[in-house]
Amino acid sequence: MGTGKVGTGAAAVAALALAVGACAPSGRASGAGGRGPGLTVAATVAPVVDIVRQVVGDRVRLVGLIPEGVDSHTFEPSPETVKALAHSDVLFMDGLHLEGSTLQQARANMPTPVATPPSTATTLERSAKGSEIIQMGDLTVRPAEYAYDFTFPRAKGDPNPHVWMDPLYAKSWSEIVRDAMSRRDPANAPYYRDNQARFAAVLDRLDGAIAESINSIPQEQKKLLTYHDSFAYFSRRYGIPVIGAVQPTDFSEPSPREIQDLIAQVRVNHVRAIFGSEVFPSTVLNQVAQAAGARYVDKLRDDELPASPGAPGHTYVGLMVSDVQIMTRALGGDPSPLDPVPTASTWRP
Ligand SMILES: [Zn+2]
Repeated sequence: MGTGKVGTGAAAVAALALAVGACAPSGRASGAGGRGPGLTVAATVAPVVDIVRQVVGDRVRLVGLIPEGVDSHTFEPSPETVKALAHSDVLFMDGLHLEGSTLQQARANMPTPVATPPSTATTLERSAKGSEIIQMGDLTVRPAEYAYDFTFPRAKGDPNPHVWMDPLYAKSWSEIVRDAMSRRDPANAPYYRDNQARFAAVLDRLDGAIAESINSIPQEQKKLLTYHDSFAYFSRRYGIPVIGAVQPTDFSEPSPREIQDLIAQVRVNHVRAIFGSEVFPSTVLNQVAQAAGARYVDKLRDDELPASPGAPGHTYVGLMVSDVQIMTRALGGDPSPLDPVPTASTWRP
C-alpha cells in the first residue's frame, strides 16, 4: 500500500471525526433522555467483549463470560457463567464452534424463547421478546471463506475461529452490535450509532497502519510461524503467509517427529523469529527456535487484551497494535505506522 492511499484515509478519518463531533451533543442528549430498558448483554472472549463495549458504552450492563488469560478453546462455563447467562437478554459471541460449551449453556439457560438469528437481515427483523444468541463470526464469514489449517483441519470440520484478528471483520461485528442493540433498545439507537461510527473510523486507521507495517517487512522474512493458529484471517488480509503452527488439533503438545519437521521448516525458510503467546506457554517453540537459530518471541495474543484492566490500551485495538508491533519488529520491519493509531476506548458516556 502506498503512502498516498494511507494519507487519503487519514484525511477521511479526520473529516468523519469532525462530523461525529458536531452531531454528538444532540445524539447524547436523546440517548440520555431515554435510558432504555436496562438490558443485560453478555459476551464471550475479551476481544468480543471490547468490540461490544465500544458500541454499547454504558447504556447496558455488559458481562464478560470467559475470563482473560483462560484458553477460550477449552473453556468450560462455571456456575457464575450460567448464572450470568440466565439474566442476559443478548449474548454476543464469535461462533464458528469456538465457544461450544458456552453456546450449549446459553441455549439451556438464557430467558426463553432463545432466538439464534441465522443472518444479519433476520437479526434486524426479530422481535425484542425473549433472548438472543448472536454468533457474529457465523454472520460475517461465509462458509466459502472459512480458513482451515494445522490446528483447525478441514477433516475435523471446525473452521479457524479467529475472525476478529482481521479488523474489517471486527468492523462488521460492530455493525451487527449496533443494529441488534438499536432494535432492542430504540431509545438509545442514536447513541449506539455514534459510538459505532467513531469505533469504525479507528478500525479503518488500524487496518491501513497494519498493512503499512506488514509491507515494511523484507519480503523473504514475511512469514509467520506461531504456536497457536490464530492468524489465518489476518494472514489473508495482509499477505503474510502462515508457514506453520505448532499446536495440535486437541490443544496438546506436538510429537517429537513434528518438532523435528518444524526445525527443518524454520531452517529452510530462514525464518528470523517465531512466535508464541502468553496464553499458551510453549517450551517446544523455544526448543525449535534454539535448534534452528531463530528468535523465540512469546508475546503474541489473540484472546487476552494487553496492559491491565482499566489501562488505556486494554482494548481490542490495543491488542492488534501490540501484536503487529511485535511481529513487525521481530521480522525486521518498521512498526512506526502504528504509532498514531489510538488504542484507548472510543465510546463516550
Ligand atoms: Zn485462539
